[in-house]
Amino acid sequence: MSTSFDMNELHWLLDIVQSIDVGVVVLDRDYRIEVWNSFMENHSGMETGKVRLQPLFELFPEIDASWFTQKVENAVMLGTRAFTIWEQRPNLFHFKSYQPVTGLADEMYQNVTILPLRSTSGTIDHVCLIVYDVTNVAVNKRQLESANMQLRELADLDGLTGLLNRRYWEQCLQHEFARHLRYDEPASLVIFDIDHFKRFNDTYGHQLGDEVIREVARLTRQLARETDFAGRYGGEEFVVLLPNTDIQGAVQFAERLRNSIARLRIDHQGEPLTVTISLGVAGMQAEMANHQALIEAADQALYHSKERGRNCTTLHPDLPAEV
Ligand code: GH3
Ligand code: MG
Ligand code: MG
Repeated sequence: MSTSFDMNELHWLLDIVQSIDVGVVVLDRDYRIEVWNSFMENHSGMETGKVRLQPLFELFPEIDASWFTQKVENAVMLGTRAFTIWEQRPNLFHFKSYQPVTGLADEMYQNVTILPLRSTSGTIDHVCLIVYDVTNVAVNKRQLESANMQLRELADLDGLTGLLNRRYWEQCLQHEFARHLRYDEPASLVIFDIDHFKRFNDTYGHQLGDEVIREVARLTRQLARETDFAGRYGGEEFVVLLPNTDIQGAVQFAERLRNSIARLRIDHQGEPLTVTISLGVAGMQAEMANHQALIEAADQALYHSKERGRNCTTLHPDLPAEV
């Protein structure tokens, strides 16, 4: 085999390395840069002449040196490839990336292959890094994830009020029920229903009925804590699960809610309309068979509030005593 043939091959290889659309870097065992292809030049803004034989970590202080050397040394010791992937670390080199469609990513996401290079004598004196630009894949995946999250949220919420919908709320109740039973912590349930709601619909129309439901939900959300679970249980029936709250606390909450809803004024063509609710409160008890039993207890109490003339709160199991 002639020497000139070898030189030809080398030239082709160099041409290929220069023109491919991935980064190629060769490091010696002191992490000094020996090869730096045009992909790397273009994205770093540093020409080969400037980086050659310079220590990698001095040129790129953003690289976590202890993490990266450990990865490389492992690969060298085992004589096998190693990889870094964008899901674990977005990139090795902080290169700018511009996504014309989304304008989302400002840094290039990268997967990197670490390839130990064996010399003809069998020792590993160099390591090659192959840097793939995976920004498109990463941005698509991120967008899909955030869309999925929004969909999941939407599927759990009631469209009219933004409160938890019945299906999801019951799921939360079931979960909390088990949790509170296990840790023997109190939890209470407030259930309430708008009084004579039919009159709003019949007298002023469905749209105003909807507005009343929205306003009641808004106040409920305002008064409930971040950790409470407020849901729309039916048409004009609502539930609030109060974790770590005993029945005294729950009754206080119920009364505060009842009073603020009674003070509410809903505008109908200049006429201020008032609305009231009836409430039932029940505390979680160890002897309750399941979460359904808690709903039933609170619902019975609500029924008594309606019986007693509405716009009031009844506490189970003190039925029919009044609050
Ligand atoms: P009570 O004091 O006994 O609760 O009387 P009420 O009129 O509120 O009783 P009822 O539960 O029988 O009436 C509820 C009505 O609410 C029936 C239904 O047509 C109406 N409704 C249910 N969901 C909606 C809704 O999303 N929007 C509107 N506008 N009306 C609804
Ligand atoms: Mg009802
Ligand atoms: Mg009602």
